[in-house]
Amino acid sequence: MSLKVAIVGAGPAGFYTADALLKSESECEIDIIERLPCPYGLIRFGVAPDHEKTRNVSRAFARTLENPAVRYFGNVEVGRDISIEELQDAYDAVVLTVGAGRDRPLGLKGDDKAGVYGSASFVNWYNGHPDAVDLAPDLSTPAALVIGVGNVAIDVARVLLKTPEEMAATDLAGHAAQAIHAAPIKDVYMVARRGPSEAKFTNVELREMGELAEAVPQVDASVIPDEVEGDMSDRDRRVREKNLGTLREFAVREAGEKPKRVHFVFCAQPTEILGDGRVAAVRLERTRMEQGRPVATGEFFEVPCGLVVAATGYRSDPVPGAPFDDERGIIPNDDGRVAERLYTAGWVKRGPSGVIGTNKIDGQATAKIVLEDLGAGAGRPGRAQLLSVLDGRNVRIVNYADWQRIQAAEEAAASGDAPRAKFCNVSEMLAVLDSDSAAAE
Ligand code: NAP
Repeated sequence: MSLKVAIVGAGPAGFYTADALLKSESECEIDIIERLPCPYGLIRFGVAPDHEKTRNVSRAFARTLENPAVRYFGNVEVGRDISIEELQDAYDAVVLTVGAGRDRPLGLKGDDKAGVYGSASFVNWYNGHPDAVDLAPDLSTPAALVIGVGNVAIDVARVLLKTPEEMAATDLAGHAAQAIHAAPIKDVYMVARRGPSEAKFTNVELREMGELAEAVPQVDASVIPDEVEGDMSDRDRRVREKNLGTLREFAVREAGEKPKRVHFVFCAQPTEILGDGRVAAVRLERTRMEQGRPVATGEFFEVPCGLVVAATGYRSDPVPGAPFDDERGIIPNDDGRVAERLYTAGWVKRGPSGVIGTNKIDGQATAKIVLEDLGAGAGRPGRAQLLSVLDGRNVRIVNYADWQRIQAAEEAAASGDAPRAKFCNVSEMLAVLDSDSAAAE
């Protein structure tokens, strides 16, 4: 008898968990349940629109959805359409892989002012996530400030600075393209509370900032150390050394080389967002590094700006009916085990870190635990019971064939070299299916 598994969340961690189960010796029937009609989670809504190659991984995920042992249940929300308890009753194992889609609170004085956004909402907005389509950030400012120097901060700064031509072959959401390309932003400040050696961005992403058509990187050479100090893996040391090398190249670039600038401001801790209702400047305190930690110096300065994006990390939303560690923003778990027949993988299991591939190892680890616990002890009805519950509640399931029709319509609507014109509302996605059925009648 096959092991019946429900995976909640159709992002990378969900697919990697499903793949690992399918590759095991146990026979599995897997249902992937997703709140939105569209699958792929972070691949669709987190990866920057101009990093289309990174999105290629969704082709492998599509093959998983085409596996006869797998069924896609899009547009089905756990907590609204079906409860965790009901899933546990129906399946041998339920794996929660809902990711980390919220902003971690910044906790900075003045962070409730208009014009201050978290990167989760801001990235979702330009990537056309239905939850963020109405964000409508006011970009009518000559200067923006991004807090943090991770890869998300780099993505945000780059998307704000790229020209319409540089974004032409991307799937930047239509509303965001209009707003960003009409904005008068000339300067983007990326601020780091620690030094250049401690920056979290990776080198390929950093180097892209030196190749923008209209923006030149700026950094103060005096803050770049001669070498990377401290204990770390060889890999980490190499990444940091490369970053320092790239920043040294940036330090000799002329501010007037191009019409716009991206400023890397290191050793500066934001202390307050200033302005009368709306952000007008950010107050920062200079820090100095002591054993990898920022130490306040008592020296303050201000950066005038009309937009602040805090790219300081994500957290997960609680899944109704599942335990939640509110402080860490994750589902508390023991190597992926949450409760009887309830498991987790990905960012909601370990927090928002690592690249997409990191979730592969994580999904494999959770799949191994599921098989260890249940490999031989299956017997629940699985899919038949889910279908019966959803049918009883008139839930409109978007299956894989439906998703393919929505995807085809997005591709058909794209202009020029763009890969797709994303539908940014659930109703628009469902309308594609309605118009198909109307045409068939
Ligand atoms: P991240 O890499 O953890 O970077 C967060 C940044 O915010 C760090 O610079 C951090 O500084 C800073 N920060 C946190 N709290 C702060 C505070 N209170 N005040 C000031 N600064 C603060 O997180 P992320 O950029 O959100 O990325 C999440 C994960 O996705 C990462 O693993 C990233 O590599 C991955 N990702 C990868 C790509 C790609 O491969 N192209 C693209 C996007 C995201 P400290 O270091 O001092 O804490």
